[in-house]
Amino acid sequence: MTTASVFIAGQFRAASEATPVIEAATEQQLGLGSAATESEIDDAVAAARAALPGWSSAGAQERAGALRLFADALQKRAAGTFELCSRENGMPIRLSKGANGMFPAVLLRYYADLLDRSEAEEVRPAAIGHTIVRREAVGVVAAITPWNYPQALAIMKIAPALAAGATMVLKAAPETALDALVFAEAAEEAGLPAGVLNIVAGGPAAGAYLVSHPGVDKVAFTGSTAAGRVIAEACGRLLRPVTLELGGKSAAIILDDADLDATIKGLRSASFVNNGQTCHLSSRILAPRSRYAEVVDAVAGLADGLVVGDPLQKSTDIGPLVSRRQQQRVLEYIDIGKSEAKLVAGGSVPGDQPRGWFVAPTVFADVDNSARIAQEEIFGPVLTVIPYATDQEAIDIANDSEFGLGGTVWSPDVERATDVARAVRTGTIGVNEYQLDVNAPFGGVKSSGLGRELGPEGLAAYQVLKSIYRVGPA
Ligand code: NAD
Repeated sequence: MTTASVFIAGQFRAASEATPVIEAATEQQLGLGSAATESEIDDAVAAARAALPGWSSAGAQERAGALRLFADALQKRAAGTFELCSRENGMPIRLSKGANGMFPAVLLRYYADLLDRSEAEEVRPAAIGHTIVRREAVGVVAAITPWNYPQALAIMKIAPALAAGATMVLKAAPETALDALVFAEAAEEAGLPAGVLNIVAGGPAAGAYLVSHPGVDKVAFTGSTAAGRVIAEACGRLLRPVTLELGGKSAAIILDDADLDATIKGLRSASFVNNGQTCHLSSRILAPRSRYAEVVDAVAGLADGLVVGDPLQKSTDIGPLVSRRQQQRVLEYIDIGKSEAKLVAGGSVPGDQPRGWFVAPTVFADVDNSARIAQEEIFGPVLTVIPYATDQEAIDIANDSEFGLGGTVWSPDVERATDVARAVRTGTIGVNEYQLDVNAPFGGVKSSGLGRELGPEGLAAYQVLKSIYRVGPA
């Protein structure tokens, strides 16, 4: 791609300003992404506003049909999309195939099916008279997404918002500006009405301008807790509804009866998925003191055995981090960890990766939960193994965190593990594995965010309720 584009009012336009998108594994330029200007954002918001009356008043069946055509057009492009995402951010291709390739179409069809089963109006009898309770579209949505799961995190906003009858301006992260335009190509092919979905890319300044834009009715943000706080403040001043999906530092609680082989198999994904660049990662491993040495050996063995390399190879477990900045940040945390705890695996850039922003899977043992490497989100392949004595102490350690996004509990006794899961203060948690479930709400408590995505709750996040009271029987 030689020119950067934005997608506004159903048209591709050459962007006024551009930034290079760099391939994580090769450090070569992949293409140019837009660096959206205020004037382009103004146009995108105006297009979304203009499209709102038609789209929000279209029948649910019409919108469901449009979402299915959009899903078909994305699915046709899936193979190219998931490879492009892996090149942009270093995600191992096996994971990208599902998360960036298949997931967007699956989620659009999920919300289309939900529309088929939902009623926009419900009549409730009152003491005198009755009330029609209506669900109306929230209006124009500003969606801001990060680079780590670019297609999945964008569609988690696009699909429910469009299903609800809202229109959108999506601002993609600069690192993954190219794949965002696949949504534009598919929207165009599917005949989505012009202005329903507008797409730009850009950095924090573009995001901040969009968040506070007078033409926006709701903000949906996924990213860091630091940026989430700034966005929440702006939305607070404007009394603008906002959904925030932020950072995490989740715990994997290995109970004392755990089958360690099965647990370690599960932790490959739960604790290392996407090179550690996953918000709900179980990055604190809580191990019973009675089996501490055994767990540390097993987790270190897992890290040492992961295949680090080209993200486009199916055999790769760990690809490069998204950028040099992210690699530096993770290496700085590893240095901090060396002064706080005992390094038992990894701890540096792998010697056999001459280019790309790789960090070897790293494990620290003898970690106190108050250490910075146990409290702060590192967002790389770095785990801490923390000892505990009783189930209650494990729960207390899991909860002793600024964050509350995810987590896992590991035991052959599923009911015991579920009781522990109930006691952990987090928005989402898995027993003996964790997989995102499109039918269940996803999101965090504490500094991990506000509101939920996915499931029927994800649709409700783009609706406002109106009660029309009427005299007389229902
Ligand atoms: P980031 O907050 O720096 O950037 C995320 C997006 O927000 C980018 O598009 C960026 O341009 C934009 N942005 C940054 N500052 C902004 C501001 N002040 N106003 C408006 N927009 C702004 O985050 P990142 O480093 O790109 O992504 C990693 C973070 O995202 C991690 O903390 C991770 O845990 C979090 N995350 C959370 C979830 C979740 O569902 N909870 C999912 C994935 C990632």
